[in-house]
Amino acid sequence: MKDEIEIRNYLKYKNHQVQDRYLTNESLFKLDFSKNLKPIGKSVNKLPIYFLKLGNGPIKILVWSQMHGNETTSTRALLDLITFLNIYGSNYLKKISLHVIPILNPDGALNYTRTNFNGIDLNRDALVLSQPESILLNEMYHSINPHFCFNLHDQRSIYSVSNSKKSSVLSFLSPSVDEIKSDTDSRIKSMKIISSIEKKLNNLIEGHISRFKDDYNANCVGDTFQSLGTPTILFESGQYGLDYSRENTRNYMCIALITAIKSIASENYDLNDYNSYYSIPPNEELFFDILLRNIKIPKNNTFERVDIGVYFNESLDKKTKKITFSPVISKIGNLKLMTGHKEIDFSNNHIIHEITNENLVEFIKNV
Ligand SMILES: [Zn+2]
Repeated sequence: MKDEIEIRNYLKYKNHQVQDRYLTNESLFKLDFSKNLKPIGKSVNKLPIYFLKLGNGPIKILVWSQMHGNETTSTRALLDLITFLNIYGSNYLKKISLHVIPILNPDGALNYTRTNFNGIDLNRDALVLSQPESILLNEMYHSINPHFCFNLHDQRSIYSVSNSKKSSVLSFLSPSVDEIKSDTDSRIKSMKIISSIEKKLNNLIEGHISRFKDDYNANCVGDTFQSLGTPTILFESGQYGLDYSRENTRNYMCIALITAIKSIASENYDLNDYNSYYSIPPNEELFFDILLRNIKIPKNNTFERVDIGVYFNESLDKKTKKITFSPVISKIGNLKLMTGHKEIDFSNNHIIHEITNENLVEFIKNV
């Protein structure tokens, strides 16, 4: 297991030129394979949307990332997958061809927003097709006519693996095709591939893999393509400890993508019982970025103890092109069932009269 090339050699095929959370069209042109990128359309604000094809195999896989502009971890993993295939993948590329749109929403990427330049969530636009980015993806889907689709995202740091104390580092979904979540042929194929991924990754990050929620929404792109009979997999990169650059998650997501490619090229996934997909624990929302425990606050003439859950707001510093994380109080009360990526215990502190978003940073710093 440990000897497998994708695990052993990650640093050899990782694209070290791209790091951290901010990733735009400009970042793509730092890469060795950028000469193979072709513009295939334009965003709302007239930025090019690029495309890249690898391999000539008969099994066609359409992959897109950053339909949500600020979700870059899976894009970084995808770029590493491309370099992996260029170095080690000639056998796979005889079986499959990979059709890649690395940044579907370049305006959102540039401004570090989930939505596109018109403020529209492209993953709620699959039916209406009101945005040029949605129309382009739809046209590519119909012209390529893929056998599989990979839909790449980042998930928020709030997700736990079921009700455990472990954060969801990676989650996956075989999207539903109807309200009753029928197990169609395409859904089952996706489930089997996800089972292959889960088996492999569980050896590396045991207990940190989960299933994304599977409520049907016809406005979501994955649900639409799955409904049209194309096995579609949602890949979500999540939070692992205090690694807010998500460079570790990137490594694991890359191995997940390689595993998916290998299982499709070899058709090994078909050996899996698709029911094992359902034994992957579901995502729950039990994490804060910071959890302050046992804070004494005044009550009547004495005091009580409360916990404070804090989330980070992400924003782009336009000067440094870095993402900043600002703490915001989300919940105050008894948060015993919750977990923090960072936890601070205030059992031995004095009564605290006021914590506001404004003094939170100073407050945490002075503990
Ligand atoms: Zn997303």
